[in-house]
Amino acid sequence: MASPGDVWVVVEQHDGVAAEVSLELLGRARELAGRLGVGTGAVLAGASEAVRALAPALIARGADTVYLADREDLGDYLALPYTRLVAGLVRTHGPQIVLYGATTTGRDLAPRVASALRTGLTADCTDLRIGDFSAQGETYSDLLFQIRPAFGGNIIATIVSPEHKPQMATVREGVMVMPEADDSRTGTVVTVPVERSSAPVASADRIVLTDTDFAVRLVKRVQEEKRVDLKGARVVVSGGVGVGSREGFALVEELARTLGGVVGASRAAVDAGWVGHEHQVGQTGTTVRPKLYIACGISGSVQHRAGMDQSARILAINSDPGAPIFSVAHYGIAGDLHKVIPLLIQAYRTKA
Ligand code: FAD
Repeated sequence: MASPGDVWVVVEQHDGVAAEVSLELLGRARELAGRLGVGTGAVLAGASEAVRALAPALIARGADTVYLADREDLGDYLALPYTRLVAGLVRTHGPQIVLYGATTTGRDLAPRVASALRTGLTADCTDLRIGDFSAQGETYSDLLFQIRPAFGGNIIATIVSPEHKPQMATVREGVMVMPEADDSRTGTVVTVPVERSSAPVASADRIVLTDTDFAVRLVKRVQEEKRVDLKGARVVVSGGVGVGSREGFALVEELARTLGGVVGASRAAVDAGWVGHEHQVGQTGTTVRPKLYIACGISGSVQHRAGMDQSARILAINSDPGAPIFSVAHYGIAGDLHKVIPLLIQAYRTKA
């Protein structure tokens, strides 16, 4: 049953398919709500049978209440109507936490909602927890700890919003673990009353979309298929600055091919132009959680490792025995990757 103080996820969907990050966030919302002893909510907007059919799937992944805004004019994401919808729902129902995927849409919508509600927002969190916070003689209980690398990755910052509600954060895809669907879960679907008016309506307790909210019209949506599936890969073989050149990446590719894996890269290798951005692993690339991660010539910066701690096994190959990657790796080989990788390939092929 919906109540003030719930933990919400603003769900992103395209053609009735929920974004994976929204489902991942529902799992974490469920955990946070469990700590707080409250319920979970999912905000879902769209206009098709497929969108309506999504509600049970959201409940199965952790939502107790789905707020469904089922309207033709909300069929595609548009910044102004969606901001009015989410801000209006928050004002009406008073959740204490609202989470968004750090997608193009989430990064557009969340700051607008934060501004409309005069509250804060932490972008690209790599962890979310509940905890107490004391400052200037005051203690605030059960706040959302919004955790992310800051100052160029030199610190891991815990950001809190003690005085403004809701507490809001965006999280990138792959950072939270996808919850199993539990089809035995039950929940409520609340149909959100949304009105439309040609002129602005000053009312805090109604959600009224005005014609000026639709000043922008979506003419065409072009979606490129992902060419590299780093997130779903069981084995990722990544190269960094230590690879030395674009040609050097052939060695990384060969090891990936030999192991049936996908090629990843550090941002420095991408910035050097040795490999495309779609291969970048980390905070501003793709969060990976494969069974086996092989880091070749990568120092192991906090941004590169963002979200990777739960990788089953990390194997690091680095010529510097003091490289930070060795402190998180399960297996380490201190040596020149140009010598080590061919030996690994040979050993694997001969099943040594
Ligand atoms: P380096 O740090 O230069 O390390 C190269 C390593 O190769 C060294 O440890 C060296 O000992 C080793 N080496 C050299 N030669 C050899 C050899 N022959 N054999 C074996 N080892 C060798 N980085 C990411 O990767 N992903 C991100 O998403 C990301 N996002 C960022 C976001 C922000 C806001 C910021 C500020 C930075 C971000 N970075 C990211 C950059 C990050 O901080 C590091 O600069 C980057 O990861 C370093 O890449 P690297 O390990 O390849 O290079």
